[in-house]
Amino acid sequence: MLNKNKRREYKAAYRQRNLNKIRRNNREKIGTKYRQRRLNALAVLGGICVRCGFSDSRALVIDHINGDGNKHRIHGSHGPVNDIFKGIIEPYQLLCANCNSIKRVEFGENGGRPRLNSGAERVELEYKS
Ligand SMILES: [Zn+2]
Repeated sequence: MLNKNKRREYKAAYRQRNLNKIRRNNREKIGTKYRQRRLNALAVLGGICVRCGFSDSRALVIDHINGDGNKHRIHGSHGPVNDIFKGIIEPYQLLCANCNSIKRVEFGENGGRPRLNSGAERVELEYKS
């Protein structure tokens, strides 16, 4: 236990001393590696939104089909991109940001009650000049 605390203190001190270096490395190295892995993951999932067919990778999100991402995190998942890299693709689907937002409302994934098929939330906004 003492060792664990000492290690934690050492890590924290190291991080303080090398904060800029760590941040630079994260941006340059890990950032591009992650982006490449993410693009691969999107390709594995078909590359387009399963609801509307949107295909711009900048606005595609990897969605937990059952809305249980929190459970995955609690059970030690390092995120969808890493799961898909390891071949675990069943819990995931590809959605665009719009369809993902709509799904969150429909299934109550933001904490509210599900509003499936009600359409009550759907309001077409008019452009006003
Ligand atoms: Zn979509």
